[in-house]
Parts: sequence; structure tokens; C-alpha cells
Amino acid sequence: MRLVFMGPPGVGKGTYASALSRRCGIPHISTGDMIREEIRRGTELGRRLREYVERGLLVPDELVTEMLRRRLQQEDCQRGFILDGYPRTLRQAEELDRMTRVDLALYFTAPDEVIIDRVSGRRVCRSCGAIYHVRYMPPRVPGVCDRCGGPLYQREDDRPEVVKRRLEVFREQFAPVLDYYRGKGILVEIDASEQAEVVVPRVFSTLESRGFKC
Ligand SMILES: [Zn+2]
Repeated sequence: MRLVFMGPPGVGKGTYASALSRRCGIPHISTGDMIREEIRRGTELGRRLREYVERGLLVPDELVTEMLRRRLQQEDCQRGFILDGYPRTLRQAEELDRMTRVDLALYFTAPDEVIIDRVSGRRVCRSCGAIYHVRYMPPRVPGVCDRCGGPLYQREDDRPEVVKRRLEVFREQFAPVLDYYRGKGILVEIDASEQAEVVVPRVFSTLESRGFKC
């Protein structure tokens, strides 16, 4: 089960990938998490990655691709994997095909209003990083972290106007990747406009209907 998870920022694909990973025992490979981990470990690659991340620049294709190539060769990827955050460009999609075979590309969709509502309600604890939502997962006391009592704030990236712009950028940049998988006949769209309790079972049943079992 070699899967690619795609979708606009805030659609919740990380949550769905974790749930599937737990159920099927295949790794959830998030390139964003991998980049942060390499930097934290201070590896040679991590030092090169840090230069881009600290300056707020996009990490070059070659670096991300090289990191992923090594990751996919590890033992735990033999039965499959869930890729999250890669490919982002047509070039990366072609590169991925040279590394391995992708069985299915799942594209999670939701109307813009739903994503904006979900993301802009998010609040993060300044002290411990715990994440809340003003409606779906409110803290006991508004503005205060349940876990550590720290102050909650809204990340710059989560402001409605920023989310709106990121959605536009996503749509524009991602169209060729979607077309690529659609052309191969392995693109499946999944409606992710409801809460995760509804979407996760939908992911399982979609995979089962395609003959993937775990
Ligand atoms: Zn906290």
C-alpha cells in the first residue's frame, strides 16, 4: 500500500495519515516533519536544510528528494507507506516514480469556507505548543492552556486572509500534480468537509473498495 496523501493546507491530511498509519502499521512519512527532525539532529543534511528554513526559503527539490530517497529505503517501508507533503510539484511526482511505485494518490477536498473556519479557529499555547480550537476543542478557560496555564494565541499563518491566500497558491501550484495522477488513473478524491471522525472511516472504506486491506 504505497500511498500519496494530498490536499490544501488545513484539510487535515496529517490526521487522516496518522490514523491509517496506526491501523495498517505502515509509516506516515511527512516531509515537513522529516526536515524538522534532520535539523534537530544536526546532521550534515540538517545543517544544509537549516540554512533555507531559517531564512524562510523553500527547501530545494534535490535536498527533499534525497532525504526521501533514503527514508523509503528503510526496512519499515517494505509493506508500504503514506507520503504527506511530497510530491508538491510535477517534477517531484516524476522523481518519486523513479524511486518507487505509487499505488494510489488520495486527494482530500473541502470547500474554502470550511477550511478557513477550521484553521482560523485554531489557537496554540505559547508555552507548551498544545493546539486548541475555539469551537471544536475549546480550552476550559478561554485563552488559557488546559495543560500548562500558558496563554493561547493565533498563529500568523492561521489568520483568515493568510489561509485564503495559501489556498489560492496551493490550487495554482498543485494542478499539474493532480493532473499527473489523474492521467495515470490512480487519483481518488475524498470529501473531507466533515470532522475527522467521519473522514477517517471514509478513507478506510475507499481503500477497501480499491482492494487495499490491512
Ligand atoms: Zn500549554
